[in-house]
Amino acid sequence: MISDSVVFLLRTFRTFISPLRRKTSDYQVTQDRSQNTRGSATDMAGNLDPPTPRPELLVLDVDWTLWPFHTDMDVSPPFKKDSSGEVTDSRGKTIQPFPDVPRILDWLKGNGYTLALASRTWAPSDMERLLILLDWNKYFSYKEIYKGTKTKHFSKFTRDSGVPYSKMLFFDDEEVNIHEIGRIGVMCIFVTNGLNWNLLKEGLEKYAKERS
Ligand SMILES: [Mg+2]
Repeated sequence: MISDSVVFLLRTFRTFISPLRRKTSDYQVTQDRSQNTRGSATDMAGNLDPPTPRPELLVLDVDWTLWPFHTDMDVSPPFKKDSSGEVTDSRGKTIQPFPDVPRILDWLKGNGYTLALASRTWAPSDMERLLILLDWNKYFSYKEIYKGTKTKHFSKFTRDSGVPYSKMLFFDDEEVNIHEIGRIGVMCIFVTNGLNWNLLKEGLEKYAKERS
């Protein structure tokens, strides 16, 4: 169990630590999406046919893959949701996922993909709270959210789901995770600017091509 004091210390020293990690301001929601080379030009929800074979388990990292911040560094609990559905942290900062992510989660679930979340955050209870406020738990059959190595998360996934590593597809923004999980036989897609339609399509097509 990660103590609250560790998280408190992390947040207290974020000024010193943050330069080592990306900050929310590094991510710009470009008004002109064409500037974002790996961004999504259009919403593909209506015209993307799931390539086959499909991964039997699609695993998503959370921080900097689904939303543009580190839960243990860049936002401050408690979080709240107002009557319009807007989620904010204690400083009034709006909690927003990357723009394509809500529709992507709907599309994946609607098309029958089995989804899992894997995060090494130091603030698992804060992340769990945000997942509740965003109403995202309905999308995920498996969640492993705790500090450590992602191989631990994945060994739990394969044990709980019965899906072998070779039939999983994983999206993550950290190279260390990509290398570590790639080594155990999971196909990994490196996320550079948040999960978006083009990257999802690229990943599903790569899986279909190389696992057929
Ligand atoms: Mg991440």
